[in-house]
Amino acid sequence: MTWLFPRFLASVLAMAAGGLLGYWTGGPIRASLLGALIGGAIGVGIIALLDTVRGYRLIHWLAGSQEGAAPRDTGFWGEIGYRVERSIRNRERGAEQERLRLEQFISAMEASPNGILLLDERDQITWCNSVAADHFGLDPKRDRQQPVTNLVRSPGFVAALQLERTQEPVVMPDLHGRGTLSIVIRTYGEGLRLVISHDITQRERADAMRRDFVANVSHEIRTPLTVLAGFIETMGNLPLTEPERRRVLTLMGQQTQRMQTLVADLLTLAQLEGSPRPASDRWVPLAKLFAQAQADAAGLSMGRHQFKFPEQCPAQVAGNEAEFLSAITNVVNNAVRYTPEGGAITVSWRVREDGSGEVAVADTGIGIDREHIPRLTERFYRVDGSRSRDTGGTGLGLSIVKHVVQRHGGELEVRSEVGKGSRFILILPPARVRAGRSDPGTPQINAPERSAA
Ligand code: ADP
Repeated sequence: MTWLFPRFLASVLAMAAGGLLGYWTGGPIRASLLGALIGGAIGVGIIALLDTVRGYRLIHWLAGSQEGAAPRDTGFWGEIGYRVERSIRNRERGAEQERLRLEQFISAMEASPNGILLLDERDQITWCNSVAADHFGLDPKRDRQQPVTNLVRSPGFVAALQLERTQEPVVMPDLHGRGTLSIVIRTYGEGLRLVISHDITQRERADAMRRDFVANVSHEIRTPLTVLAGFIETMGNLPLTEPERRRVLTLMGQQTQRMQTLVADLLTLAQLEGSPRPASDRWVPLAKLFAQAQADAAGLSMGRHQFKFPEQCPAQVAGNEAEFLSAITNVVNNAVRYTPEGGAITVSWRVREDGSGEVAVADTGIGIDREHIPRLTERFYRVDGSRSRDTGGTGLGLSIVKHVVQRHGGELEVRSEVGKGSRFILILPPARVRAGRSDPGTPQINAPERSAA
């Protein structure tokens, strides 16, 4: 009510001034009264005029964008203007905070590794992040308000949308048909729906690889086990002569050996995958590795091949000695196994210009067709399964070699030509090579083919 008092006072003063004016002009009491009335009317009129002007100014400001301050009038209108402006500014601040929160929320949904798609009650797209756009082949702006089933036509997805509640994720191929998506649909609000898509291509691939691996291992173990079971049955049911018994026992020993080698290779692979990178300050003399590999290969060859190993190799390599030995032995033994009698196997060492070192194992054996080279390091991959098994192979050797070399920061190169021979090169990075006197390289066979990573 404070705004009323100045107006009341001004009207009283105007009436008093009018009354006094009437009295001074010497009129009777009635003239003073008339003067007071006229004075009061003029006073009220002036106040009303002033209020109208102030009111108009305030309405003008309200009708505009209210960007500047409200008219700074005193009294009633000033008070209204101030309160309205404060309320508008509070609301603007609140709206700005809401806008920022919404922006942050949208940025968070945009940053999600999953696809997020929001649908209205008629399954029209209201918003989607870029991952969902990529998964479903949508344009986040252009496809807004489009029925999603017009754009995503996968039967599994459409069927899931038609269900009221879907608890189980739907698995469907991605837009390009190369990957797999897992879709979850949830209802929220009043009939609105949230679609979350997750790319499970890698997981599916890993699962398939695991399944293949288990199937391969089971198959590899089942074969010698079946043979062993057969022999055991034979020995139990049939009276065998001494030479027959010895022959059966030899064959049983071979099958047992085959299983032992397989289990040993599997354990080696598991160990390689589970252990940290080998130390780079443990130096192993190459000469020692070559000597052991040569002894091993000579035992396997039984004089059927000619060997050439580096003489007095002073170089050293840094890493795990057992792993290096396993890699070199595997490659040299392969050379023996896949080189017919009378062939030559040459092992060489050289330090390259960039400081990296290479152990090359060349043979004059059966060679490998180009198409197989990229797959040689896959587990259980064999060019000729029966030859590999007949020579005691597990199909895991080159897989182990690749792991060992990669764990030491190097790589495996394979060059080969059918009927002429193969050359396996184990390359180690400069940091793991302590150069010695270089050995002359062996002749090139053909252009390099990098093995499968
Ligand atoms: P395996 O135990 O079968 O030898 P590896 O992983 O060591 O398994 O080798 C994979 C395949 O690569 C072999 O089955 C064989 O076909 C081929 N291979 C490996 N080394 C040679 C070689 N020196 N000459 C020809 N083929 C080879």
